[in-house]
Amino acid sequence: MAKEITAYCVKCRKIVVMQNPKKVTLKNGRLAYKGTCPYCGTTVYRFIGRKKE
Ligand SMILES: [Zn+2]
Repeated sequence: MAKEITAYCVKCRKIVVMQNPKKVTLKNGRLAYKGTCPYCGTTVYRFIGRKKE
């Protein structure tokens, strides 16, 4: 029961509900959710506030 995480898909040019979201840490130390767009399959990211979670 994963909560829905939305992200902006650059290909669809709209906010979509991320599929298979995973929390990842980027090279610069920022946290983000990484997943795929349900419409076009493009990888989408949603950045998370640094110390929030
Ligand atoms: Zn898309």
